[in-house]
Amino acid sequence: MKRIMRPLRETTPPWSSWYLTMPKLAVSLLVILLVVLLWLLQNNEKEEQRATLIADVLWLEQSIHFHVLSNVEQLQQLSLDLAKDETPEKLFDTRARHLIRTNSELAQIAWLDNDGVMRAALPNHISPRQEVTNTRDTREELAELARKLGKPVFSRTFTSLKDSFFELYVPVYNGNRLAGILVATHSLAGQINQIVPWWFTEKYQLQIIDDDGRILASKSKLNPGRSTISHQVALDPPGYGVSMLVTVNRASSSAVQSLIMTLIILLAVAVFWSLWAMRGLMRRRLAAEQALRTEHAFRKAMEDSLTIGMRARDREGRITYVNPAFCEMTGFVPADLIGALPPYPYWNPDDQERTQQLHNKVLDGQAPREGFELRFRRKNGEHFDALVYEAPLIDADGQHTGWMGSVLDITERKQAEELARQQEEKLQITSRLVTMGEMASTLAHELNQPLSAISSYNTGCINKLDSGNYSANELRGAMEKLGVQAQRAGKIIRRVHDFVRKSEPKLAECDLAEIVDDAIGFIEHFAQKRLVRIERQIPGWRQPLLADQVMIEQVLLNLMRNAIEAMNDKPPQDRLLSIQLIQHERQIEVRVIDRGSGIAAEIQERLFTPFFSTKPDGMGMGLNICRSIIEFHKGRLWVENNPAGGTIFVFTLPLLAP
Ligand code: ADP
Repeated sequence: MKRIMRPLRETTPPWSSWYLTMPKLAVSLLVILLVVLLWLLQNNEKEEQRATLIADVLWLEQSIHFHVLSNVEQLQQLSLDLAKDETPEKLFDTRARHLIRTNSELAQIAWLDNDGVMRAALPNHISPRQEVTNTRDTREELAELARKLGKPVFSRTFTSLKDSFFELYVPVYNGNRLAGILVATHSLAGQINQIVPWWFTEKYQLQIIDDDGRILASKSKLNPGRSTISHQVALDPPGYGVSMLVTVNRASSSAVQSLIMTLIILLAVAVFWSLWAMRGLMRRRLAAEQALRTEHAFRKAMEDSLTIGMRARDREGRITYVNPAFCEMTGFVPADLIGALPPYPYWNPDDQERTQQLHNKVLDGQAPREGFELRFRRKNGEHFDALVYEAPLIDADGQHTGWMGSVLDITERKQAEELARQQEEKLQITSRLVTMGEMASTLAHELNQPLSAISSYNTGCINKLDSGNYSANELRGAMEKLGVQAQRAGKIIRRVHDFVRKSEPKLAECDLAEIVDDAIGFIEHFAQKRLVRIERQIPGWRQPLLADQVMIEQVLLNLMRNAIEAMNDKPPQDRLLSIQLIQHERQIEVRVIDRGSGIAAEIQERLFTPFFSTKPDGMGMGLNICRSIIEFHKGRLWVENNPAGGTIFVFTLPLLAP
């Protein structure tokens, strides 16, 4: 899988970063434009606010001006009326009381005589001026000034603990004679309370300040905060540097604007964040896509390089996929096959029934795991043998969607197998002929013995007859021995006949001990000539077995002859050949034990291969044929080392069930 897990950077195509950069640029631009728009709007609003502020301030200044002037007028009128009236104290009291009631800014109205002594005062005789020490002008100076000018005069402002005040001095003339002076003390706080309407205080903060910048009075419902929009106008009356400073309360709209601004910035941050998250997501997705493409390309290359045909079918048996190898094998193109339902075009019409049965088995999920063989037909009509394996197709959700079959063209393999089988058969025949030849020569030797015995008995008999010195018993004995030898010769001939005539192995119930004895009988002469003793160890009771007698005898003869030949170089007293029969529960074991030269381990491995021989005139087929014969009988043949020196050839044969 390493080839798929390449670093992300390599797999992310360059255009993908554009997909991500463009929205980021657009969002940044949008945010900048919105901020500029908001700033312009705010500026515009500020300008409007400033214009409104100036208009409102001018209006208020006018109102205060007119109001104070109206007070001046009323006091002037009072001064005139006081001069004329007969009971001026009473009139003062009535009019001053009325004035104070209707003008809450009037803290006191006092009537001083020409000497500055208070004749009357409302609401009481203590003037606010008397409570403070910071006055910059005295009452006397002001009264003097009013008298001299002959018209109302305003004092400078002064501040008590609670409030700030200014006074209005109005001279009272009785004809041309000065009859005192009226002093109206105005509270600045009272004045703005009286004159400034409620809506003004909602919008603005109002402060009355003196030329030193001290706040004399103020009125506001809200704190203006850090607002920079303000306007200042001089208040005259009372003059003397007193001015009015009006500051715009921070508008709620600006709070809304900052809220909007904050929201915009938050949204922009959120968009950036989501873009960032999307970038990661997109990268992962692109990497996954790339990995998928690589995987697909890899799979495709793998499929195309396969020599095994692959074809997928859905659960109804409709072909959904074929690979190039399958098309090449059958000669059809994918368009001929995909979507096809049984019988498929490559089915062999002669074998349709079996093919259909196997097909149904596959769809039922009962296809043999080890695969099955079928004969298919190519588009050009040729037939071929196929080995088919079926496996279930499971999709990404774990659903069983159909079956994937791999198809192997085994025609060549089968042909090769057939050829090998034929060759093996030929080899068997050849080796049989060879063995037959060998056997014939052995038998010829064997035959020599009874024939020469017959000949010598015959010569003996004739000699006796010729001499005339014979007894009938003597002759009879010789004749009987002659007969036995003749029978033995006959037996040998019959064996040759049997062996030559055989083509098919014939299994028959037989006793292995008899076969061993027969074989020993055949080989005896050969052994005697080589001074080899033959020893047999055979148990008394034996279970019968099913075997081809001649073949087993042939095996024994082969093994015994090899054993005898292996002891050629041993001293005669050591030349012992033992044949052992051991009966097991289900099989019988035959051991051919010699005291010969033994067999080296590396030779043991090759013993049973055809044409392996260490003898100058050996064919090397004997052991190979022996093993084939034993295996044909469902037994086993192997070799062991004899602990006493030499070799042991062992073969087993299954017993007939009792
Ligand atoms: P052949 O007898 O024609 O050589 P075999 O297949 O019967 O062919 O034997 C193959 C070889 O196995 C012999 O050449 C011999 O070297 C070896 N061999 C067989 N039996 C024995 C044995 N009992 N002791 C030693 N060597 C043996």
